[in-house]
Amino acid sequence: MLRIAIQTKGRLNEQSVELLREAGVMIKEEKRKFLMRAANFPVEILFLRDDDIPQTVAMGAADLGIVGYNEVAERGYEVDILQHLGFGGCRISLAVPKSVQYDGLDYFNGKRIATSYPNVLKRFFDEKGIEAKIHTITGSVEIAPAAGLADAIFDIVSSGGTLISNGLVEVEQVLHSEAVLIGTPQLCDEKMNVVRQLMSRFESVQKGYGKKYLVLNLPSSALDEAVKILPAMRSPTVIPLAQSGWCSLQTVVDEKELWDIIERLKAIGAEGILVLALEKIVL
Ligand code: ATP
Ligand code: MG
Repeated sequence: MLRIAIQTKGRLNEQSVELLREAGVMIKEEKRKFLMRAANFPVEILFLRDDDIPQTVAMGAADLGIVGYNEVAERGYEVDILQHLGFGGCRISLAVPKSVQYDGLDYFNGKRIATSYPNVLKRFFDEKGIEAKIHTITGSVEIAPAAGLADAIFDIVSSGGTLISNGLVEVEQVLHSEAVLIGTPQLCDEKMNVVRQLMSRFESVQKGYGKKYLVLNLPSSALDEAVKILPAMRSPTVIPLAQSGWCSLQTVVDEKELWDIIERLKAIGAEGILVLALEKIVL
């Protein structure tokens, strides 16, 4: 049986459980244990702190793991990165107090930098020829400069709000991260078959992220115009309506373009526009 390690609680837990659920791996949330068998797929889920996931997978105590790429990069264990999962996006950046004059990486020479990612930072500084003092802190890194513990920090940033409220400015983005599916190197063929099946399901779920299904009525005379406006997997589905001279169009659109497309379709006579949630796209 394949074992997948995911975060017990925290930022990646909910979306990891959701991704598995959408891929048909159901976990009963009510009486959650440390290790749980999925209801309808040959896998069991191991709940861990995210720090421990790369090592657990490298050792083979779990075959797969869902964890931030930042943790994989920091811990340096030997695991295969099998798939990028499209959630948990963030970056690890260098930030300095907003009162200092920053004019390039040389600023960091001889400075004290607080971080929970000493290995990633050391690699970056070595590559750039910077000699700084790296202080490893596991708690709230962002308060270190104000507390006089460091001159700068190297920490996770997503919206940047935490930096601003601590009087810091992001000056260098060093590592971009998102949740990744990691695997024990050299899984046996039997397990690899299940892994491939899961990965293809994950891909279908991801393709549906940010997509909507659009259904609308249109005068048939405006069809050519509508086809130019609408993106589609191959081309939109066109169904005649009982009323002659009208048709119904169905297609998949990117949520980001949704309103723009709707306004352009209305301008050419579209009516009765329905926007429906889309769960998965299997190609
Ligand atoms: P654990 O208790 O499992 O050790 P944690 O406190 O170390 O959890 P979380 O804060 O839950 O970790 O974050 C988990 C992952 O979420 C991070 O390693 C990172 O990949 C991702 N992430 C995305 N955005 C952010 C953010 N703004 N701050 C921190 N982590 C983020
Ligand atoms: Mg952690």
